Formats: sequence, structure tokens, C-alpha cells
Amino acid sequence: MFDVLIVGGGAAGFYAAIHIAEANPNLKIAILERGKEVLSKVKVSGGGRCNVTHAEFDPNELVKNYPRGEKELLGPFHTYCSGDTVSFFEERGIDLKIEDDGRMFPFSNSSQTIIDCFLNEVERLGIQVLKHSSVVGITSIQNEDESSWKVTSIKKTYQCRKLLIATGSNPKIWKMLENLGHSIETPVPSLFTFNIKDDRIKGIPGLSTYASVEVLAKKMYQPKITIQLKTKVSDKVLLLSEGPVLITHWGLSGPAILKLSAWGARILNEMNYKFQLRINWLPDYHPYAVISLLQEIKEVEGKKTVLRTKAVDIPRRLWTNLVRATGISEDTKWADTNKEQLQSLANQLTKCEFSVDGKSTFKEEFVTAGGVNLKEINFKTFESKLQPNLFFAGEVINVDAITGGFNFQNAWTGAFIAAKGITKL
Ligand SMILES: Cc1cc2nc3c(=O)[nH]c(=O)nc-3n(C[C@H](O)[C@H](O)[C@H](O)COP(=O)(O)OP(=O)(O)OC[C@H]3O[C@@H](n4cnc5c(N)ncnc54)[C@H](O)[C@@H]3O)c2cc1C
Repeated sequence: MFDVLIVGGGAAGFYAAIHIAEANPNLKIAILERGKEVLSKVKVSGGGRCNVTHAEFDPNELVKNYPRGEKELLGPFHTYCSGDTVSFFEERGIDLKIEDDGRMFPFSNSSQTIIDCFLNEVERLGIQVLKHSSVVGITSIQNEDESSWKVTSIKKTYQCRKLLIATGSNPKIWKMLENLGHSIETPVPSLFTFNIKDDRIKGIPGLSTYASVEVLAKKMYQPKITIQLKTKVSDKVLLLSEGPVLITHWGLSGPAILKLSAWGARILNEMNYKFQLRINWLPDYHPYAVISLLQEIKEVEGKKTVLRTKAVDIPRRLWTNLVRATGISEDTKWADTNKEQLQSLANQLTKCEFSVDGKSTFKEEFVTAGGVNLKEINFKTFESKLQPNLFFAGEVINVDAITGGFNFQNAWTGAFIAAKGITKL
């Protein structure tokens, strides 16, 4: 019999266990972890450096990074925000540094620093960590005055007064929660890169530039003569983002693309990751302004070749690929270009369309959109509204964020507030 059982030895599970034990050292607490190692995602997070949180300390701004959970996390972030996370680690001798884009990492640049901190803390606080303990059953026990829980692992059956589910995105646990009456938003991947095969981005992997990117709506229609589905693209913009775009061996990545993958996680899944993308490589310019700009260059640089005289502020190798895509030959001089060629170049620069066919994993961070329906959770305590003494924290609920340390912040905040909810009684 335990006072508190935590299912899941990941970020949220450990953070909650530590706060529960600190709030009430008399409680008997255990973490049940299915794996032979705990904190395995923390280990690989942030490319092995662990992007612990983000240097956004205003809850009203912080919530804007959560495609799912924006509304629900506002209250919790007012209780426990990124500044509190920074203090938690500082109090334990771990200073975090802020990178130019706001991401925060331990100074050691090693996720092991965070893991060691958690392992030391659970030992100091006498929390039991039971590995190889995959939970296969959860049953509510109704006593006269209070309900408690029976938790069955592949090894043993336990009982506890309070149960915290911190299992990340695990379909089996979601199924068990459905059996307890909860509804689960269908899980789909988030934070991925776009697969594109196209000569305009061929041979220039590693190149990064600032751009605005749109996902276009498409109308599916069935042509009468063939059975193959064809796609007709309309100009309606479904999703829009702006930021650095990184060209990779497989297609496009970088913050602007990852943001689209997060905000569009569900829509892009419905489109089976086949859609049309439109990029403005010169987001500060309207397409009409670019035409005038190119005409000016034609006047001033008439004797020079288009290919070798970059007219706008984009990386040279991208310029070369875009000029080639217009069909302007290697030795065409600016003075010899006609109206159609300049229009075509302006289109490549500001309305550059690509066909996306599939997605790839972004190795630094990925996450699942979906999980326990947020309407069924009391965000003052992270307790189930349907089952007393059942709490949630982390990715198990239908909250996820764009890349940058926000996903861990959801885990820390949920774990802290659930810990307060658990120790209150
Ligand atoms: C490669 C990668 C890199 C990432 N990098 C970052 C980053 O730098 N910054 C950031 O903010 N986010 C990052 N994320 C996202 C972040 O790791 C997650 O949002 C976060 O780990 C969620 O924490 P959690 O505790 O809810 O779930 P998890 O960390 O997934 O922990 C859940 C735990 O529960 C255990 N479990 C599951 N089912 C059972 C069961 N039936 N019985 C017992 N135990 C069970 C699992 O084995 C696991 O240990 C990254 C994700 C990945 C995959």
C-alpha cells in the first residue's frame, strides 16, 4: 500500500514525485516505470543537451506556444512558470543558459546533468523507483468514505490512495483511461520536417534563410477517366508561419516548418502529409514590389548575367537554383531579360510552390498531439473530473507545444500542480 503511486518514470513523473515528497516527507511514494531505464526521453532530448525550458517568463506569452493547451495552461502558468523551473534547477546547483533563440539548456550542455539531479533527489527523499514495472491494469476501489486505486504491473499488484498518470504518449494507458470513462483525443505526430523532392532545393543542404511559409488548401476531386485521385490546389491559405527555413537532404526543416507541423498536426495528418507549400523567400517584400526591384536591377546591372548577379538578399546558392528554375540561361544578361522572365523570377522569389510528400522525424525533439481530453481535467489540481484521486501530468494529456523547451515546461508545470493537488489532502 502506497500513499502515492506515479505511473511513468519520465520528466513529469520524477518532477511530481520530488515535489510531493518535499511537500510531505511522510508519504510513501513509488514511481512505476516500464523500462529498464528511467528518464530516457530526457536523455536524448535537445540533441542530448536537454532544452529544459524557454526564456519566456510571461504566462500570457508562454501559452501562445501551445497549439493544444493554450487556453487551459494559462492558469497553471500563473502558478508555475518557466522562471520557477529555472529556480528549481538553480537551487539544486544547476545553472541554465539562454541561447539566442530563447531556448534554455544546462551549462554542461548535457542532459545527464538533469538526470543526475533527479536521481539524486529521489534517493535523498526516499522515493522508490520500480523499474521493469509496466502497468497493465488500473482499477478504482470504492471504500465507504474514500476511493483508492489498485494498480497492476507485470510483476505485482499495488494499492495507493492517489494515483498520478505520467506515461507520456502510451496507447495502452490511454485505452485503460478510456475504460475508466475518459475520452482520448486521437494521437497524431507533431514536430516533423517536410519531405520535398525538388531541384530548387537540391544540392544545398544545410542552407538556412528567413522566409514566410504557407500551407495551401487543396480541393480533392475525382477525375472521370482515371481512378487515381488528383489534387487541385486552390489559393486558400490554411496555415502560415514565418521564421528560419532550413534546407535538408530530404526537404525543408527549421523553426518556420516545425511551427507549421505543430499547428497543423491534425490537418496535415488528415491530408496524409501530401500538400502544397508556398514560400516567400523575401517576406519583407510584396510580390509586386519585387517586380519593380528586378526591373531596377535590369536598368542598373544590364551588362551582368542574371545568374551571377544576385539582386536580392537571399543565400547565393538558393538564388542560383531559383534563377535556373525560371529557365533563364546561364549567360543571359539582365538587359536581355523579358517581362515574362522577370515575372517568373519574381514568382520564384515570393510565391515559390513546393509539393510536400511525407514527413521525417526532427531528431532534436518530437512529440505527440492528442491524449486525455482537456475538458475532463481540473487545471487547478490536474485531477480527473471523472475519477477522484486520479491525476495527470505531461504528454499524457492533450497538450503539446512547438519546439523550444515548451514541451518540458508543460511537464514541469503539470507535475508541480498535480503534486500540490495530491499533497493538499
Ligand atoms: C527525441 C526527443 C527529443 C526531445 N527534446 C525535447 C527538448 O529538448 N525540450 C522539450 O521541451 N521537449 C523535448 N521533447 C519532448 C519531451 O521529451 C516530452 O514532452 C516529455 O518527455 C514528456 O514528459 P512525460 O513525463 O509526460 O513523458 P515521457 O518523458 O515520455 O515519460 C513517460 C514515461 O512513462 C513510461 N511508461 C509508459 N507507459 C508505461 C506503463 N504502462 N507502465 C509504466 N511506465 C510506463 C515510459 O517508459 C516513460 O519513461 C523531446 C522528445 C523527443 C522524443
